[in-house]
Amino acid sequence: SHFLQRIEKADGQLNSFITVTAEQALSQAEAADKARADGKAGKLTGIPLALKDIFCTQGVKTSCGSKMLDNFLAPYDATVVEKLSAAGTISLGKTNMDEFAMGSSNENSHYGAVKNPWDLAAVPGGSSGGSAAAVAAGLVPAAMGTDTGGSIRQPAAFCGITGLKPTYGRVSRYGMIAYASSLDQAGPMARTAEDCAHLMNVIAGHDVRDSTSVARGVPDYTETLNAPLSGLKIGLPKEYFGDGLDPEVEKAVREAVKVYESLGATVREVSLPHTHYAIPAYYVIAPAEASSNLSRYDGVRFGHRCDSPVDLQDLYTRSRAEGFGEEVKRRILIGTHTLSEGFFDAYYTKAQKVRRLIRQDFLDAFEDVDVLMGPASPTPAFDLGAKKDPVSMYLQDIYTIAVNLAGIPGISVPAGFAGGRPVGLQILGTHFAEAQLLNVAHQFQ
Ligand code: GLN
Repeated sequence: SHFLQRIEKADGQLNSFITVTAEQALSQAEAADKARADGKAGKLTGIPLALKDIFCTQGVKTSCGSKMLDNFLAPYDATVVEKLSAAGTISLGKTNMDEFAMGSSNENSHYGAVKNPWDLAAVPGGSSGGSAAAVAAGLVPAAMGTDTGGSIRQPAAFCGITGLKPTYGRVSRYGMIAYASSLDQAGPMARTAEDCAHLMNVIAGHDVRDSTSVARGVPDYTETLNAPLSGLKIGLPKEYFGDGLDPEVEKAVREAVKVYESLGATVREVSLPHTHYAIPAYYVIAPAEASSNLSRYDGVRFGHRCDSPVDLQDLYTRSRAEGFGEEVKRRILIGTHTLSEGFFDAYYTKAQKVRRLIRQDFLDAFEDVDVLMGPASPTPAFDLGAKKDPVSMYLQDIYTIAVNLAGIPGISVPAGFAGGRPVGLQILGTHFAEAQLLNVAHQFQ
């Protein structure tokens, strides 16, 4: 009730929720009280959460931030949702997001922009901006996000919270509306790494319904949170401290690194030489996969359908023209172009080769150091409406998207302020190093 009242009071200004499921939440809370009274409560029984509106929730609108799915009641729960409710958590509702998770500011939502609780003139970041803003404003203790190219880490940084993108395959994608299937990954967004560790204990693991989820044991992520950091080898990628980095963001990140030195870590500079190619490679691969994934929204099976189509072609064309927003259409056009005959090898195959080189950069760096540190974003949260041209928006993703191309995990941790707005320290580890990232992040908090 406390959090529902907070939402009622503050969300008119923030717009962080698309759907609030108050009735359902209150009845789940009663069940949680009963479980507690019967001595059947687990660690997370009764903990309220919010879900990015990309996770299918049975009988509840699952819009993915799009007019296309404004009328879509999911017929089943995503694995992540199923696991969270089996653990006794209570969903308060579905959070706002960039349409189909395409964006870095949450301004691409059909349901309107989300405001940053630290400064209402600023964006909360994207695409999981609703989840980040809701947690930062204390409307909910934690939320789930997804990260295809930074959409957990960058909004976490902009809103001064902690957000973890797990290794690709660590968390099931079943029931998570697909954007770019080889990059998408779900993860927790909360105040602290400790809270994220509790959520990871619930959501991580193999799922027979997602062939890309990995059959590998899940550690107790809370057990190693207090492991000492003496001897930890930190690498600072020199490409993450170059042109375009806001000097105050750089200062905050370097100060954070000093804290780690005082905890016994050693620091050295490393190089990820193909960083420069991450944005072009990502913005070929992600739209290519998106154009294919989004072909299912044809006005026939589900989603928006135009009025009185004259024939099948008209049905497809108008349903899609009306249902998708501008950025989604741009990505579909880019993706279908780069996948078309005559362009496929020049763009798509080339981008896949570059992707392999980017992955190798990280693997080489992790031969010498345990974790990499740098900024999550080159600037703190920018003003709403400040980035009108798509390329300037894409450049925001410079420090986050290579991680998805490589499939490695990354976490953003609050590390001070720049211009009065929060800064995120990004910590990266090798594949399946989530426990280590949570440990390193926790020691800073
Ligand atoms: N900003 C990136 C994009 O628009 C990443 C989004 C994401 O991680 N979902 O594609």
